[in-house]
Amino acid sequence: MATVSDQFGIKEALQQLGIKEINEGTSTGSTTYANGNIIESYSPADGTLIAKVKTSTKEDYEKAMQKASEAFLEWRMIPAPKRGEIVRQMGDELRKFKEPLGKLVSYEMGKSLQEGYGEVQEMIDICDFAVGLSRQLYGLTMHSERPLHRMYEQWHPVGTVGIISAFNFPVAVWSWNSMLAWVCGDVCIWKPSSKTPLCGIACQNIIKTVLERNNVPEGVSCLVTGNESGDLINNDKRIPLVSFTGSTRIGRHVSKTVAERFGNTILELGGNNAIIVSEHADISMVLVGAVFGAVGTAGQRCTSTRRLIIHESIYDKTISVLQNAYGQLQIGNPLDENNHVGPLIDKGAVNDYLKAIEKAKKEGGKILVEGGVVEGAGYESGCYVKPCIIEAENHFEIVQEETFAPILYVMKYTTIEEAIALQNGVPQGLSSSIFTNSMREMELFLSQAGSDCGIANVNIGTSGAEIGGAFGGEKETGGGRESGSDAWKAYMRRQTNTINYGTQLPLAQGIKFDL
Ligand code: NAD
Repeated sequence: MATVSDQFGIKEALQQLGIKEINEGTSTGSTTYANGNIIESYSPADGTLIAKVKTSTKEDYEKAMQKASEAFLEWRMIPAPKRGEIVRQMGDELRKFKEPLGKLVSYEMGKSLQEGYGEVQEMIDICDFAVGLSRQLYGLTMHSERPLHRMYEQWHPVGTVGIISAFNFPVAVWSWNSMLAWVCGDVCIWKPSSKTPLCGIACQNIIKTVLERNNVPEGVSCLVTGNESGDLINNDKRIPLVSFTGSTRIGRHVSKTVAERFGNTILELGGNNAIIVSEHADISMVLVGAVFGAVGTAGQRCTSTRRLIIHESIYDKTISVLQNAYGQLQIGNPLDENNHVGPLIDKGAVNDYLKAIEKAKKEGGKILVEGGVVEGAGYESGCYVKPCIIEAENHFEIVQEETFAPILYVMKYTTIEEAIALQNGVPQGLSSSIFTNSMREMELFLSQAGSDCGIANVNIGTSGAEIGGAFGGEKETGGGRESGSDAWKAYMRRQTNTINYGTQLPLAQGIKFDL
């Protein structure tokens, strides 16, 4: 078995992050709550076993939950701006560790180094956002219908927030949730994807010094690993809010289980995102937006562009521009900045990709850019595939599904209304976009008769959201919102207060109750 390569400074990065390079089957990193079975973390970039990680047993989970519950009693009493100050220090720590953490993200998950750094930058940005938010957890005041009464609403922390995250954003999703939850006064228990456990351990190690320096009880930030912990979180009545990021299939199970016990969820599930390319579009802009959207992160973003809906008058021209661009894509090690497309997460994902292409062909799809597995020197992990383009119909079963791989389906439209109907005509509702210079088309697309997605962009692709906006989608994407705007409200409970400062006790709605 190959050991971690020294190329690209991976060994040094692991060392800086406190992750022991282990090939002998012991636990790694600092996760306190892990004495169970071993999971192995392989790099899809070169197939190396990076480390073996112990998962959490039921007893470990229980210990973590107890620590979290105790920590909450203390943490909720710290004034929000002071909690914000601690989050500010976490942001500083992430700035210091941006390079090694970005490298680990790239090596363990397989996205390009630039995207790995970008993901850590997103974490830093959300820390900054949360610091400001810690002084803006505003409630409203209302005018009471009764004299000498005052009404207002205020926001209190909910308690312990369970965070279950997907492999494809192995660090940013945790920070979107935890940084907001922390300034809101909640504590967090995080179960990262079993495909990227080292990223979880690294984040814990990075913020640990901040928690210690500020005498914050350790239960404010708990990490548990292994799929069993996911179900323990779902079923745990002590967790009033579960923020789940992952597939619609698992999300459906999480949603039902948590709802059954009247817990709340934030669901960030699969997408099936389309770009409408109007006859009024600037094709050079479409090219960047569509190609980055479809092949960036090897098509493994929830917001990846999966469908291009192209006006019939420019269809042939757009396809030939795309074919030309796809011909120039460099596929290879994501840590090498010359490459555009890295690997899929594992061989299971490669299988799903191959099956999807076969299914599309069976349903009548026409291959415009050939796919396939890339083999040979440098591709030994077996996880590299060629981005492909398939002409398809929107109603094909395979087009209606999210395949987490660089497969782009293309189709024609005649009227803008038809294009919008195609864009909306899938079960998912995460991200959408139109490229057009027509004000009428743009406004229609953004109107209530337009896109039904949580994100609707104009002259920007479907992927690459900024943290300032609320992030999430409708329909089978789950309806959750995270990150910016007023997404913080999901992490708090609202309380309406009425105070009577008079000497009478009038009832609302003029009801008389004389004694
Ligand atoms: P996944 O559904 O396979 O796994 C997600 C998480 O759920 C992992 O941590 C996994 O270990 C855990 N899990 C598995 N079984 C569980 C159970 N019974 N109870 C609780 N947790 C359980 O998803 P994935 O393959 O890691 O990620 C890809 C998917 O995530 C895609 O569908 C993508 O669109 C979606 N995603 C959505 C967003 C968004 O914001 N909408 C963001 C990133 C990824």
